[in-house]
Formats: sequence, C-alpha cells, structure tokens
Amino acid sequence: MQDKSSPRKSEYNFLAHGHGKTAPWIDLVNSQEWDTFGRLTDHLNNPAWVPYFLRQWHFASPSREPAPIARLKTLRAALRKGSEALFRGKPIPPPELRVLNDVLNLRGKQQLFQRQNGLRIEFVPDKSGWRRIQAAVARSFVETIADGQSARVKICRNDDCRWVFYDQTKGKTRCWCSSKSCGNRERVRRARARDHH
Ligand SMILES: [Zn+2]
Repeated sequence: MQDKSSPRKSEYNFLAHGHGKTAPWIDLVNSQEWDTFGRLTDHLNNPAWVPYFLRQWHFASPSREPAPIARLKTLRAALRKGSEALFRGKPIPPPELRVLNDVLNLRGKQQLFQRQNGLRIEFVPDKSGWRRIQAAVARSFVETIADGQSARVKICRNDDCRWVFYDQTKGKTRCWCSSKSCGNRERVRRARARDHH
C-alpha cells in the first residue's frame, strides 16, 4: 500500500529491500543479493539500481560518465572480503587493502567547513564523477569501522543469504539480516527438526 507521501515505487523498493540504511558501502556490498534459497541477484546489472543508490546517498549523478560497473564490482568484492575478514576478527587482507587504497588515492585538498555542530575539516577531491563516488564509498567503510566499531560489522548467519549489516544492538548480539527474515526461517526449521525427533 502506498500513500501520497511515499516516494515512487521503485525507490520505495530500494529501501524495502533493506538498502539505504547505514552507509553507501553496505549498500554496494549488498547489491549482490542472495535470496534465502541461495539464488543470486546482482543489482549492479540492473540499470535502475545505481541511480537510486546515488540519490539515496546524495551523490551527484555523473551525467557524462556511464557507471563503471566493472570497477564497482571490484570495489564491491574488496568490501565483501574486507567485511568478512572483520566479521571473523581478522585484519583486512593485503589485496583488498590495495583495492581500497587505489580507490582512495585521489588528489585533493583539506578544507574547513562551518557545519551546524561546528568547524569540520574535510577532504575535497579534485576529481568529480565516479572516481569521487568510489572514494566516498570506500571512505564510508573506513568511517564505519573507525573507533573500534568493526565488531558491529556482521554477516547474516544464514549461509545462503550473507547479507552484510551494521549491528546497532547494545550487546552486539544481532545475528540475522532483518529484511529477509532469515532468523524466523531458522527458528521454524529448528522447531520442525525438533518435532520430527
Ligand atoms: Zn539473511
């Protein structure tokens, strides 16, 4: 059901699919989405997905530059491997670190901004377009895991799902993605197995 205030249907689906919650890097990783039967949908192959992604995270859409899908997939693979490593309490492997550093390697300048909560120093890249967007996505990963928060990066316990999410619970106890009710399925499966004994 849609009311007049809801965004257009496809945008609504972007959010209903569980995207657009925590940070751009999580959406990019989850653009490779397995359903609960292990079937894969690659949202990067859907030309509609990228514009919603850009709008959701307020990235200026590069008008003259087509989305560099292959490079986005390389970044996505590095972020997936990086988050899996963090999830297991391991450091990010060197090849993935290299991909992230390549993406972050942009010329630019430090600039002071007056924000509502005071002065902030931010890095402003010379380049605009997709190079800047990819760097911002990689940077969002670093920002998520900064300040010792890497233990909050989780992967759904359902091996067919592997949805990456940020666990905001106080005790860091969340195990399942929320959008595909993997946790419910697991409870049902266990209950059935119990009943059969
Ligand atoms: Zn799941």
